[in-house]
Amino acid sequence: MTDLIRQLEAIVGAGNVLGSDAVAQRARHFWDPSPMTALALVRPATTEEVSSILKVCSSHGQTVVTHGGVTGLADGEKSSTDDVILSLERMTAIEQLDPVNRTMTVQAGCILQSVHEAATEAGMFYGLDLGARGSCTIGGNISTNAGGLSVLRYGMTREQVLGLEVVLADGTVLSSLNKMLKNNTGYDLKQLFIGSEGTLGVVTRAVLRLRPDTPTCHTALVAFENFEQVTQTLAHISKSLSANLNAFEILWNDYYHLSTNPGVKGSSRAPLATDYFAYAIIEARGANQQTDEQQFMQALEVAIDKGFITDAVIAKSESERSEIWSIRENVDLTLRHRPLFIYDISLPIDQMQTYLDGVRSVLRQDWPDVIVYAYGHLADNNLHVTIAPQPENFIADPQEQPVKIQSYSDTETAWYEQCNRTVFEPLAKLGGSISAEHGIGLLKKQYLKYSRTPEEVKVMRLLKQSLDPQHILNPGKIF
Ligand SMILES: Cc1cc2nc3c(=O)[nH]c(=O)nc-3n(C[C@H](O)[C@H](O)[C@H](O)COP(=O)(O)OP(=O)(O)OC[C@H]3O[C@@H](n4cnc5c(N)ncnc54)[C@H](O)[C@@H]3O)c2cc1C
Repeated sequence: MTDLIRQLEAIVGAGNVLGSDAVAQRARHFWDPSPMTALALVRPATTEEVSSILKVCSSHGQTVVTHGGVTGLADGEKSSTDDVILSLERMTAIEQLDPVNRTMTVQAGCILQSVHEAATEAGMFYGLDLGARGSCTIGGNISTNAGGLSVLRYGMTREQVLGLEVVLADGTVLSSLNKMLKNNTGYDLKQLFIGSEGTLGVVTRAVLRLRPDTPTCHTALVAFENFEQVTQTLAHISKSLSANLNAFEILWNDYYHLSTNPGVKGSSRAPLATDYFAYAIIEARGANQQTDEQQFMQALEVAIDKGFITDAVIAKSESERSEIWSIRENVDLTLRHRPLFIYDISLPIDQMQTYLDGVRSVLRQDWPDVIVYAYGHLADNNLHVTIAPQPENFIADPQEQPVKIQSYSDTETAWYEQCNRTVFEPLAKLGGSISAEHGIGLLKKQYLKYSRTPEEVKVMRLLKQSLDPQHILNPGKIF
């Protein structure tokens, strides 16, 4: 046993340091069952233990990759056989729920869904929600500045965090567990760590901002015949529902078709015909039992009367609401294509259709049957784009033929790079972003130049050098 492992065991106990063989028993990622790799995985229970671990790793020059729920989609959590994984899986406590100041203080390994449940039980609401809610952690959400389904109303994770506790690479505990909305006392240090993908420090605790509960919920699935209708509906619905508008999620036809295809195991029922140009899930949440329903119905009726919406179905029960949302959340069905390239971009809403048409037409020159799935948080300028160059390689029933997510062959890697250029290059000209919410990690670092100037990257490097001069935290990620 090495000196490093002995010292780690002395901090957390032998049972909480897993060797490389035990680590390999774990799946690498939420979506990838291949074995996780690391020198060791260490599981602290407190901030003090995280601090001691980082002091030891720092003194050995040992690289550390922090893990939350391993649902990240930029390979930011990817580790090599040389890395120690610092997993927050034992730091899941909800330490305090303060109803007067509307805050919740949690350890960073707390699962997002547990935060939702605790907030609801206390008659309040937490404003971040996303499909991986049952597995992703608050620390992971903070480190990726996660977005999700209600950004148009509550903002990104950045807006949900009032205070933060972070352990720096040398073990220093930086505690800024502020609970107030207003606090202009110098630099807001927590913002430095939000969205830094584990490269500047390890998030150990956070004070989250809670909102008043919104007990009324009205959901509709609507259909469009062209993109003009989409933008008209968004403008109209935003005005009519005002602050109650909670989600406006778009699904272009290819995605809706896949997600509701009865021939695909795990698909959902199609509440509307499958041949429309695009669909949107519109959801309003509020607190007025008397007027919210009427406001929602009226907004939809006007949209239909004005010709903005061609067809619509309104959820009449929680199970109908879940059924509508399942169409949006069936994202894992796209993973049955081999190969598959996943993007998360942002760009001006009025440019989205022209952009998608351009990407499709370039890709068709090499792959005539290519499918470009597009869906996502349109109102936040954010599209998820998934490219399947060879749609014939699709697994309809994973029980008959298991879905194996594996690294790409040399040919597929070359295709991926080609798709990256096709997707990313036009974004620079449109003032868009190569990553709306998933981050840069390893997957996009070579393309950071499309969204950040050399001066911006230089300042990022300066911050990294100041806070982690040995580059032990998540090395090689982002830049
Ligand atoms: C089905 C599905 C749907 C998704 N939908 C969305 C969506 O709508 N919006 C969105 O933004 N993302 C989405 N994601 C991506 C992912 O869920 C988020 O990025 C999430 O915030 C990651 O949390 P995690 O705990 O799994 O972090 P991990 O995957 O474990 O880590 C992600 C990154 O954060 C770092 N990290 C983790 N914990 C800490 C910590 N305590 N301190 C420092 N660094 C840390 C890691 O090193 C890594 O770089 C989705 C993923 C899936 C699988």
